[in-house]
Amino acid sequence: MMELKTLRLNRHEERRLQGGHLWIYSNEINGKETPLKQFQRGEQVRVEAHSGKFLGIAYVNPHSLICGRLFSREPHILDHALLLHRLEQALSLRSRLFDQPFYRLVYGESDLLPGLVVDRFGKHLSIQLNTAGMEVLKSEIIDALKTLLNPESILLRNDSSMRPLEGLPQEVVTAHGTPPQEVELLENGVRMLAPLHNGQKTGWFYDQRPNRAVLQRFVQGKRVLDVFSYIGGFGVQAAAFGAKEVMAVDSSRFALEMAEKNAALNGVENIFSGAEGDAFDVLKALKQEGEQFDVIVVDPPAFIKRKKDHKEGLRAYHRINELAMRLLSDDGLLLSASCSMHLQRDELLDVLRNGGRRLDRHVQVLFEGTQGPDHPIHPAIPETCYLKAFLARVCKE
Ligand code: SAH
Repeated sequence: MMELKTLRLNRHEERRLQGGHLWIYSNEINGKETPLKQFQRGEQVRVEAHSGKFLGIAYVNPHSLICGRLFSREPHILDHALLLHRLEQALSLRSRLFDQPFYRLVYGESDLLPGLVVDRFGKHLSIQLNTAGMEVLKSEIIDALKTLLNPESILLRNDSSMRPLEGLPQEVVTAHGTPPQEVELLENGVRMLAPLHNGQKTGWFYDQRPNRAVLQRFVQGKRVLDVFSYIGGFGVQAAAFGAKEVMAVDSSRFALEMAEKNAALNGVENIFSGAEGDAFDVLKALKQEGEQFDVIVVDPPAFIKRKKDHKEGLRAYHRINELAMRLLSDDGLLLSASCSMHLQRDELLDVLRNGGRRLDRHVQVLFEGTQGPDHPIHPAIPETCYLKAFLARVCKE
């Protein structure tokens, strides 16, 4: 402890940390007494209020707007022992939540491991070190994961868009064993293969698990359209839950091939098809061809990546949801999701309201969902609560 340098905040800037948040912005630092440039990328520091009051231990990145992330309010450095303790706490939650070892084991700040993401696929781990503070702890993190889980392989999916903001290279690196190209997981009772190396993010989106499960009740004997399907999270599960027919739409051929593979894994390949292309164009074409679906899932990539994209992104949510509604049968269901943290829940609800009015349809929201509990929400950090999902009935009056 003694050797840690001190990072002192400006007057009153301790309030957010004391309120539960973990982030320190570079303009909150008392740069005269503790200039940021004296610190190394990823260095651990004692954080003090202007008064000298001890607030906790953080790691810093002097080159980042979020220049510090607190990981402990006790005088503990983040070493093997604390990492192991944090990972054990994360594991004890997931063990209570799930019977099978398929889940997000570590969800960054919400598990008091800022910048670290660990997805577990049984014996294989796919992880992201999203900050310099986590990057410098790479070998300790790998060691602690090995101690805790004895995994067969660990893949570092360090190609996230956060890394350049932290001055880190984007790369995919094997950290342990031989990570297979595809890993099998079980979700909502359905077997799925996820592409570890070439897939989106860590290879699989565990966050939608509870929202996919909602389909179970509604898809028996129905014709389902899964828009922005990726590898078939919603669509293959809908087929496995008893849908009559499922069409998946995605611009990635690779994703659709994986989706078809997943359909085959569940013996539903005969009722499953993929349509490759831009979702906006494909939905328009389907309408022109007179197609109709009973249940449509719309789960786009984040259309609003930054605050400044808000207007344009919101318009895209409106357009794609309206296109989907036009393809619904008279008494159809739309599951509309957004993973943009900059899109508010009420804005997505308004997208549904607006679509209903434009098509002269009555809209009833039956279910509202968010990310699954292996992505717990940190009550002080709104960014940790990003996923919105509504299941709405869309019918004639
Ligand atoms: N619904 C998926 C996750 C979707 S991720 C699940 O449950 O796992 C977003 C997907 O949208 C990616 O697979 C990406 O290839 C696809 N995508 C992005 N832009 C697109 C576009 N304009 N048209 C069609 N697909 C698109």
